[in-house]
Amino acid sequence: MNSYYIINLLIYAAVDATACLGLNQQFGVAGITNFGFIIFQAAGGYTAAILALPSQSANGGFQTYIGGWNLPFPLPWIGAAVVGGLISLPFTFLVGRRLRGDFAAVGLLVTAVLLNLLVTNYRPLLNGDAGLSLIPQPLQGEYNPQSSGYQWTLTAVAIVVCALVYLFVRRITESPYGRSLRAMRDNDVVADSLGKNLLSLRTAMLVTGGAIAGLSGGILVSYITTWSPAAWGYAETVVLFAAVIIGGTGNHLGAILGAVLVPVGFEEVTRYIPTSNSLPPNLIPSLEWVAIGLLIVVFLWVRPQGILPERKRVIRAGAAASPPSAAAPSPPAPPAPVSAVPVPAASVSAGPVSVLRPADEPPVDREVVLEAVDVSREFGGVRAVDGVSFRVRHGTLTGLIGPNGAGKSTLLAMLAGTLPVSGGKIYYQGRDVTHLPAYRRARLGLVRTFQLASEFKRLTVMENLLTAVPDNRGDSFRGALAGRRYWRGDEAAAIARAEALLERFGLDGYANSYAGDLSGGQRRLVEIMRALMAEPRVLLLDEPMAGVHPNLARQIGNQLVALCAEGLTVLMVEHELAIMDEFCDPVVAMAEGAVLAEGTMAELRSRSEVVEAYLVG
Ligand code: ADP
Ligand code: MG
Repeated sequence: MNSYYIINLLIYAAVDATACLGLNQQFGVAGITNFGFIIFQAAGGYTAAILALPSQSANGGFQTYIGGWNLPFPLPWIGAAVVGGLISLPFTFLVGRRLRGDFAAVGLLVTAVLLNLLVTNYRPLLNGDAGLSLIPQPLQGEYNPQSSGYQWTLTAVAIVVCALVYLFVRRITESPYGRSLRAMRDNDVVADSLGKNLLSLRTAMLVTGGAIAGLSGGILVSYITTWSPAAWGYAETVVLFAAVIIGGTGNHLGAILGAVLVPVGFEEVTRYIPTSNSLPPNLIPSLEWVAIGLLIVVFLWVRPQGILPERKRVIRAGAAASPPSAAAPSPPAPPAPVSAVPVPAASVSAGPVSVLRPADEPPVDREVVLEAVDVSREFGGVRAVDGVSFRVRHGTLTGLIGPNGAGKSTLLAMLAGTLPVSGGKIYYQGRDVTHLPAYRRARLGLVRTFQLASEFKRLTVMENLLTAVPDNRGDSFRGALAGRRYWRGDEAAAIARAEALLERFGLDGYANSYAGDLSGGQRRLVEIMRALMAEPRVLLLDEPMAGVHPNLARQIGNQLVALCAEGLTVLMVEHELAIMDEFCDPVVAMAEGAVLAEGTMAELRSRSEVVEAYLVG
């Protein structure tokens, strides 16, 4: 083994690991399936090439390309990262808020194939399928690129860059912002309903991953000194996906391990397979593809979490007890939310956890806080909700009943912004919010839960609660980059609130369990607590007590009543009439997409049309 062989291995490992970190940030952490990932690496490589190359004529004019700026190191690498990030921007329309993840993935794949065709066939831009060669190596004027000292230094720099990228993605992932990304990965509709701006989160991750991919392409090109479109086929993306999946989706060390095992390891193993003239020359490379495909399938089947699974983020009880001010010296911590006020010891009958958002001005009791005016929703000609008008008054626990298919869930989704209306208007706190996206309504305090289980499965119960907290300084890209010191005060306050809430609902023993591992009833509790963590003013609950033991359901009811007395307003869909009788006033009855009647349960029971539509049927 000579040192050039080892250098070659190490540089490829560093480049592949860097790229895998970018892909893992997008796919493993944020749940964006970017099947066009290789485009961004190729673009970075190309950028580094034309920034480093001298002008066409200086090179004898045998290649045609735009640029040729002959810039010194490290500008070509920086340019590679910048261009990788910038060309990600147009793709945000694919991964934005509305398009389903699998459609976006296919869109990116198609784009990768098309761009490769364009590059291969359009000579003036990128010299066609001949690609670019004789690309200057970093500082080759000052040093001798052939010397082993130079090669080792370049290797060391590539490894250092990879380490820096690792620290960078880890800083993002281990922050409250990273938690929001993982929540979006686990369930984007729910993250939206809790105030997460999906478009902004996905744009940031697309650009971040694109920049990292571009940087890795730049490093590779300055080592191998050529850029050939054939080397950037869409199938290369599959190799990187294989590396991330096998190494451990969502675990950055796993992504590095996968990069060493799959792209680098495979190349090496196949190198030692003896070739013979009786075999077709393309057999070994083709079998390599088959083997990578098989490996992905086997891992997804047997060990979907990969060799190094995503780490569980355990938050110790009392972690919030350490005084946050001692940890965050320079910027003064923002005033603790009202809810951080000490909470009475756990007992369901004790006073309620203060979860309410401090109001700018005290709301008038019984004032209308949420109003639907002639709201309709069609699904392909079927009117699920047909001209519904009703009002929810401040401080009430309003019930919504109706037979299956009456349109209750659809109505709730429109009130929260999860579904757009087909017609009509929605007013919240006197403001027309009909066209406001769900995350903006949530930030205004209009928060919903879902009829179907909607916990973030690969987040712990504690993390599920913490994601919902509004205004954590670490819950932004910049805040995450600023580091733990910048946001630990907010985080500690949020943990204290979550602990109090967990204690009240009797789930404190489960704080560090994965939400996906809980029983159905416990998961409902997590969802309610999570919605309360969002500091709602109006809470929309869709059958929160379905599948919950009747005793527990009653406790939840009592909690909600207590919260309403404190100023919360609740609109609750519920099937169980006993619950409605005991806790809800007023109650709205729906059938076939329309409001039948409104009043106390006793009044509804005396109305024959309600009885016919629901109470007996
Ligand atoms: P409820 O919650 O009162 O049981 P829903 O609001 O879930 O009722 O559904 C009302 C009607 O709308 C039903 O007929 C249902 O089949 C239909 N519906 C709900 N969601 C969709 C959808 N995404 N696509 C098509 N039809 C839907
Ligand atoms: Mg429903």
